[in-house]
Amino acid sequence: MVTFLMSKNPILTMVSVPTLSELKASFPALKAIFFDMDGTLLDTEKYHTQAFLKIGRDYGIVPPHSAEVIHGLLVGRADHLVFDVVKNWPGFPTEWSTKNFVDEKNKNLLTLLSNVPRAEFLPVSILSLLNEAQTSGLILALVTSSERIVTEELLRMAQVRDYFSQVITRDDCPKHKPDPWPYLHALTITSHEKEDVLIFEDSDVGVAAALGSGAHVIKADWHPRA
Ligand SMILES: [Mg+2]
Repeated sequence: MVTFLMSKNPILTMVSVPTLSELKASFPALKAIFFDMDGTLLDTEKYHTQAFLKIGRDYGIVPPHSAEVIHGLLVGRADHLVFDVVKNWPGFPTEWSTKNFVDEKNKNLLTLLSNVPRAEFLPVSILSLLNEAQTSGLILALVTSSERIVTEELLRMAQVRDYFSQVITRDDCPKHKPDPWPYLHALTITSHEKEDVLIFEDSDVGVAAALGSGAHVIKADWHPRA
């Protein structure tokens, strides 16, 4: 049984992963589902935070916030935006470009996750929904603010790459969430009307982008909070 909670804005929020039949009851015309990756498809946000904190330890950066506040700063925010926030923190390597920072963060993330069992970051309920959607002929696309290289590696680790006919990464987009461009691009390249598409997003940044596309949006609140 899916629990629906209405928030104020009003975005439909789900606190558990629905089955396809539950989704079709609410969205009978459903032809495609677009997933955000981190925090929506995969329970990876806490590992992003750990990967970032490791940079701090390795390079002597002194964050002016607690780990909890830092986690809040990172969730749903693309790494180039995180860089803009943290580049002025005490100890941050002044010679680092955005790319240096993102590469270091992604390296730490992939190292961390390579030691984590898949079930820890891919719930079986998500896998069930992917299987049901694929069997029913729905089109699945992934729309993420992460770079192509780390996205492909995470999807490979989770063993879910083949479910997605389109994988749109930060590298494919001239504008990034919360701009709707990535989701509008997904509508274009999957040749679907916004009325027939449902987007799952977990962060405020991502929800803003999804809403801007005009497609149906559900806020995914089904991963345990870090
Ligand atoms: Mg997310």
